[in-house]
Amino acid sequence: MPQIIDGKAISAQIKDELKEKVASLKEAGVSLCLAVIQVGNDPASSVYVGNKKKACAYIGVDSLSYELPEETTQEELLSLVADLNGRADVNGILVQLPVPAHIDEDAVIRAIDPMKDVDGFHPQSVGALCIGQKGFISCTPAGIIQLLKRSGIEIAGKECVIIGRSNIVGKPMALLLLRENGTVTVTHSKTKDLEEVTKRADILVVAIGKPKMITRKYVKEGAVVIDVGIHRNENNKLCGDVDYDDVAPICSAITPVPGGVGPMTIAMLLQNLVESAAVMR
Ligand code: NDP
Repeated sequence: MPQIIDGKAISAQIKDELKEKVASLKEAGVSLCLAVIQVGNDPASSVYVGNKKKACAYIGVDSLSYELPEETTQEELLSLVADLNGRADVNGILVQLPVPAHIDEDAVIRAIDPMKDVDGFHPQSVGALCIGQKGFISCTPAGIIQLLKRSGIEIAGKECVIIGRSNIVGKPMALLLLRENGTVTVTHSKTKDLEEVTKRADILVVAIGKPKMITRKYVKEGAVVIDVGIHRNENNKLCGDVDYDDVAPICSAITPVPGGVGPMTIAMLLQNLVESAAVMR
């Protein structure tokens, strides 16, 4: 049987470590605050925002919540971001994506002060990651590195294949695995013979956004499989991009959905926030 990589337990461990760090920062007179902005009332976004606020409360940091109506203009949103950039009591700013179609998402990301960019989406944060400098790192891929390290899985020298090249998962994932000395290949919808490439992977990270697409024909026996996908199946149950029941028996370690990558994203957001205290001092 494969090792089941337990994202719930690992994220709980990280949150407990952060809670202690926050307590010592408080003793040193440093308090932390995350500003969370949601435009519109998309139900999935409301759940994510609620979970982020709860997680802040758990580790002892404050959160400010801005629930703006769907018809908020880009100027109004950018003006709020500018106000929050200027506030010394706000360490991190998060705009829940996606924003409504009339707002330019890139303009909003660029407007956030890179020193408060706890999502790690600002071009300056991405550029810093690319050239190996300090900066905030996109939370989902950062969480995957923690899952691997804390599960005792060596990355250095391994063949790492990523399916998907999005700005928030695939590309930063490639840079992080490279930083950890993996040999990295990124695949996408135009990749020829995907199966042949993914079968080379010692570590396969799947972020395609297609429910259960990855079956065992894409996976080398003994590989580590990380499933980033989140979907609801026909019975309203959560599933990933990997067909877990088909793939699990042949791999050495695998993340379940739910309970794998998902819980790590918020844990890494909190880690970025706590690190921002050091950045701002
Ligand atoms: P995107 O839709 O932005 O990117 C999907 C990528 O998969 C693209 O690069 C696309 O290629 C590639 N792709 C699509 N079809 C194929 C195919 N048949 N063969 C090879 N590659 C293909 O998705 P995201 O990266 O944003 O998210 C991926 C999944 O992860 C989603 O299910 C999402 O819900 C989930 N997710 C989960 C998070 C978590 O916290 N657990 C956080 C973020 C995302 P191309 O570029 O050529 O179009």
